[in-house]
Amino acid sequence: MDELEIYNVSLKNIKENKTFCFKLADDFFSAVESTDVQGGLIDVTLTVTKKTMFFEFLFHLQGSIQVACDRCLELMSLPINTEKTFFVKIGEEYCDNGDDTIVVSSESEELNVAWLLYEMIALAIPIQHKHREGECEKTMEKCLQACLVDETDTSERKNEDKATTDPRWDRLKSILDNN
Ligand SMILES: [Zn+2]
Repeated sequence: MDELEIYNVSLKNIKENKTFCFKLADDFFSAVESTDVQGGLIDVTLTVTKKTMFFEFLFHLQGSIQVACDRCLELMSLPINTEKTFFVKIGEEYCDNGDDTIVVSSESEELNVAWLLYEMIALAIPIQHKHREGECEKTMEKCLQACLVDETDTSERKNEDKATTDPRWDRLKSILDNN
């Protein structure tokens, strides 16, 4: 994976701290073979600070990504604004099971951050992500409204309780009227 080499961060010659900047675009997401993130544009600032026993990696990611909408499966844009700190040690073996500590070999003294970046982005995606009401792909939306009349979503239920007429019939009627 040569195209990911640009995400190598060398720890050699870092005296106090050093800032790295990366721009993640569609080619990054295809290079990491991402299935859930289809593309995007993210600015990454990484500040590496040398401490006594380790290096502190502070990442800041800002931009947006393209993911499939849960409801209509068309692509939608999701804003990403996330910050995370990792601790990087130079050593022989991986001895700390903490997720935030990474050990790199004393031979290379460098860390490829491509996977860390991808993980941070993947974790920043909310479990549910849908277009705003009315912005879903129209054909699919109609189909879903017709198919999911028994949706068990509690928020939907509440709205239905308040309505005087059964909104499921109203929806069906509006679909029929539009055809
Ligand atoms: Zn949608």
